[in-house]
Amino acid sequence: MKVLLTGGAGYIGSHTAVELLEEGHEVIIIDNFSNSRKEVLDYITQITGKDIIFYEGDVCDYEIVTRIFEEQAIDVVIHFAGYKAVGESVIKPIMYYQNNLNSTLVLCDVMQKHGCKKIVFSSSATVYGNPSSLPIREDFPLSTTNPYGTTKLFIEQILNDIYVADSEWSIALLRYFNPIGAHESGLIGENPHGIPNNLMPYIVKVANQELKELSIFGNDYDTPDGTGVRDYIHVVDLAKGHIKACETVLKGSGVDAYNLGTGVGYSVLDLVKTFERVNKVAVPYKVVARRPGDIASCYADPSYAFTKLGWKAEKTVDDMCRDAYNYIVVNKG
Ligand code: NAD
Ligand code: UDP
Repeated sequence: MKVLLTGGAGYIGSHTAVELLEEGHEVIIIDNFSNSRKEVLDYITQITGKDIIFYEGDVCDYEIVTRIFEEQAIDVVIHFAGYKAVGESVIKPIMYYQNNLNSTLVLCDVMQKHGCKKIVFSSSATVYGNPSSLPIREDFPLSTTNPYGTTKLFIEQILNDIYVADSEWSIALLRYFNPIGAHESGLIGENPHGIPNNLMPYIVKVANQELKELSIFGNDYDTPDGTGVRDYIHVVDLAKGHIKACETVLKGSGVDAYNLGTGVGYSVLDLVKTFERVNKVAVPYKVVARRPGDIASCYADPSYAFTKLGWKAEKTVDDMCRDAYNYIVVNKG
């Protein structure tokens, strides 16, 4: 299949590009590098030995998106492009709504005009808000607590409405849990600018002595060790889930949501201890107050993705910790 990846130079997009190319599919990427670097494209080619077609530009730009569909016979689109920092979205809501919603509207409009009605969308477990029970199933009530999450919920609604208006559309809403880790080559991975907000990039920088110590946000939650529990998923497993989702949307029509997680929750301390053991490095930490807006526990029931997409996560939390650190070691050297 010929797949357009919006935001394909980013963390999850680049890993998905690699998996698609390795399975013999054609990859076209549009990215404006607002949160990624050009070298990633070379690394994708270096890992796979295969070329990608690349357009530098903004998905909110009608002209370039139209040009892509005029020049390429695209079978299916994976829409990764968007801003993703929860804290920043609270400070800059207009920027978040503008980029995340406009890019989706422009993309879907152009797709509709060119008769390409197959899309896989990067949603998030954040759309479940604070779930009343665990594990989380796709039919749980949806709610959000910040503008970033609300863009995901709005886009899910927009895509639902597009399907209601035209039942030829085939749409997969992929609700990611907590993607971490990196490609085993160490060439691509997650390396946020400045001080990371998320746990794994922070742990990596502490292990690498770029930051002094990890602050654990609370150890008084109702969890086995008191620290927050999340469903961490290896980014390569997640990438493979996108291929299954593309194959599924190509087969029929409809709109469906899928949890992409492992189904297993790990606490902050579990992750720190595993990281130290696997990589034989120290991760000093201190416990500080809870982070506002955090929930105690969040993990998926991923069984629907297995039944409908034939996908399940394979990699262990040891793999996630090893590959996350290896990415930094390779990039440093
Ligand atoms: P990322 O920031 O690494 O990748 C996003 C890519 O999109 C970047 O390369 C950026 O330059 C590009 N981009 C942003 N706006 C654009 C625009 N208007 N036009 C063209 N390119 C644009 O993020 P990621 O972690 O790879 O996440 C991909 C998607 O998955 C995002 O939509 C994100 O919200 C969603 N998601 C991510 C996580 C996570 O923890 N990483 C969890 C749930 C959902
Ligand atoms: N966390 C932490 N210290 C940090 C960053 C995160 O203790 O510097 C905790 C956070 O409270 C949560 C877990 O790690 O329990 C995962 O947080 P992350 O920001 O990575 O993901 P999300 O909040 O989106 O699930």
